[in-house]
Amino acid sequence: MSDITDLRAEIRSFVAAELAQQNFAPHCDSWLIGFDPDFSARLGARGLIGLMLPKEFGGRGLGVNERLVVSEELLAAGAPVAAHWFAERQFAPSVLRHGTDAQQQEWLPRVTAGNAWISIGLSEADAGSDLAAIRTRADKVDGGWAITGAKLWSSGAHTAHAIVVLARTGGERHDGLTQFIVRLPNPAVHIRPIPLISGEHHFNEVAFDSSFVPDGDVLGPIGNGWNQAMQELAFERAGPERYLSTLPMLQALLPGLGHSSPTAADLGRCIAEITSFRTINQRVAEQLSAGATASIEIPLLKSLGTSFEQGTVQLALDLVADASRAFPPSDQALALLREAQFQSPGFTIRGGTNEVLRGIISKGLSR
Ligand SMILES: Cc1cc2nc3c(=O)[nH]c(=O)nc-3n(C[C@H](O)[C@H](O)[C@H](O)COP(=O)(O)OP(=O)(O)OC[C@H]3O[C@@H](n4cnc5c(N)ncnc54)[C@H](O)[C@@H]3O)c2cc1C
Repeated sequence: MSDITDLRAEIRSFVAAELAQQNFAPHCDSWLIGFDPDFSARLGARGLIGLMLPKEFGGRGLGVNERLVVSEELLAAGAPVAAHWFAERQFAPSVLRHGTDAQQQEWLPRVTAGNAWISIGLSEADAGSDLAAIRTRADKVDGGWAITGAKLWSSGAHTAHAIVVLARTGGERHDGLTQFIVRLPNPAVHIRPIPLISGEHHFNEVAFDSSFVPDGDVLGPIGNGWNQAMQELAFERAGPERYLSTLPMLQALLPGLGHSSPTAADLGRCIAEITSFRTINQRVAEQLSAGATASIEIPLLKSLGTSFEQGTVQLALDLVADASRAFPPSDQALALLREAQFQSPGFTIRGGTNEVLRGIISKGLSR
């Protein structure tokens, strides 16, 4: 067996054991809503978080394809990975690339142990698509920086150990932006929940009132924040989340599907699309890992991927309405469909809206 086949077997056996012990129930969009620190800790203890990180930090020093295998298996199972997902996906690569030795020594072993829960502090009230318009600023003070402003839609800030804040330290637009690791909870940082329509708490507004951040928690060089944020967004946009976040729902619907169902053909097309996305995703991940920006491929992949993601929810609705089904859908399948339907408007917004990504693609192609 190849190493990668061994690794797939390893992660599958971990997930199967977790399911057998009823440690989790599969969910759609589990990388965003499946917050389970114990699951993350068990995964970390098995060396299955941060596979690309160097061994000295608890990683395995493996390549992009190995990381992809583990991510795919966890997402396909709908496993509760949200506690460590942002940290592993974009914070750790950034700390490895731009962080100080002290930051690497502190944070990277925590990431691989599943014990670094990180929130992303990019969006603001008037700076979502137009991120360069952010107004949160950081002023130099003795021994550090004072941050003033407010971030919006900060997923999981209420449970996070830190929020990575993009703030203005000078300049205009893309120039003069810097990233700060702001530790949480923090008496000088005010986290206000923004409840979802379901009443669940996922989003937050995070307000900073001259909040002190020591020099040691500046991430990367002063003024390099835009470049770093774009690198992190590339990791977010290029991931396998798009074609796998609703897979638990599709899998749960399968047993009720008769072979003669007219929607069975649609499901076949859907599986073919997943296969294509996987191939493209692998190529883009390899390019990113080799240092390329893949500045057209990534927005293309993300916008096509999120449209596909929303399409799977419509497909599931059609399947459920299809009278020729052999069996009625299970309660679990219907619950997952409701969950996916609820999450689906956000698919094409988070990480950059499809309209904005199409603008980036057309500008890139016309250069
Ligand atoms: C589930 C979810 C999780 C999120 N988590 C986080 C997080 O953890 N941290 C964080 O910082 N942010 C997070 N966000 C915020 C997300 O990044 C922003 O919502 C997104 O970038 C859009 O910004 P906005 O909401 O301000 O919309 P706006 O920028 O106000 O856009 C409104 C509409 O106008 C369109 N539009 C805007 N500009 C253009 C243009 N130039 N051309 C064409 N159309 C345009 C947009 O496509 C959109 O339809 C999250 C969002 C969601 C849905």
